[in-house]
Amino acid sequence: MKVLIVEDEETMARSLRLLLKKEGYDAAVARDGPAAVEAARREAPDLILLDVMLPGLDGIEVCRQVRAFSLVPIIMLTARTAEVDKVVGLEVGADDYVTKPFSPRELVARVKAHLRRAQMAAQSEPQTRVAAGGIVMDVARRQVLVRGREVALSPKEFELLRLFITYPGRVLGRNFLLDRVWGADFFGDVRTLDVHVRWLREKIERDPGRPEHLLTVHGVGYRLAG
Ligand code: CA
Repeated sequence: MKVLIVEDEETMARSLRLLLKKEGYDAAVARDGPAAVEAARREAPDLILLDVMLPGLDGIEVCRQVRAFSLVPIIMLTARTAEVDKVVGLEVGADDYVTKPFSPRELVARVKAHLRRAQMAAQSEPQTRVAAGGIVMDVARRQVLVRGREVALSPKEFELLRLFITYPGRVLGRNFLLDRVWGADFFGDVRTLDVHVRWLREKIERDPGRPEHLLTVHGVGYRLAG
């Protein structure tokens, strides 16, 4: 398991690295925002510890950019007590946050919990899925019920909804969705995704103009309200 530590303060980066190594993880360090995005893409870590105050791009922006192509669990490290950082961090797709100074044991426990959760999500492929808002999906029969009524979805709409229901509440990035539904060799217009999301909303939302389930996360992608 590889953890990417994004931290510009040398002492902190070093102690985090030692802590994780002692727990048996591989640990790489990125020292600024652009290097972090690059390392997340190149090294495909299993988890990212992401400081908020960084040179180049701040942690919020790094989170936004990484989330657009990856579902990797992200734990934000924040020195500030400002509630707004936490809220914004979670909105752009961070999974958790830890306020500095933190106890090493607490941090390791969170890292383990998120790695375990990610592993379980990747392995579980239940045949029937239920989402909030009364959406039921029977994958084997390719049947979808919305508030008790069956709706017909195109294959792409079905795949999109399947991903959203597999990761309820999580922010799914545009490139992640395009890769998974259209394939990594898709070179078409990225607006294709928005068009399909619009069609999907017309089928699952009470008022497609004011979606309650399939929400837009500006600059990142979409999320199914948990
Ligand atoms: Ca910092």
